[in-house]
Amino acid sequence: MIAFMGLFESKPLLATVLGRAFRCLVCDHAWFRPREVKLNSTGAELFGLAWANASALGLVCDECGYVHEFAGRNRPQLWNEKQGYPEGAE
Ligand SMILES: [Zn+2]
Repeated sequence: MIAFMGLFESKPLLATVLGRAFRCLVCDHAWFRPREVKLNSTGAELFGLAWANASALGLVCDECGYVHEFAGRNRPQLWNEKQGYPEGAE
């Protein structure tokens, strides 16, 4: 297991991207497990992401396991079950 900037929790988390509720692209599930994904320098250059510090945030769908990768400046925000989505995100 990899801790991601203190965000790691044993339970899956809700995610918002640019303030909007994010759901799995495959199965529409709302719960994800965060992972830090290392991009090798070749990949980072390939995608023009050398500025992104060669790491991405991976959100692993807790239902189907699909990994969504975010390498931009606006990283997804994560919310635990107690917090729920922020107002206006659903
Ligand atoms: Zn899924």
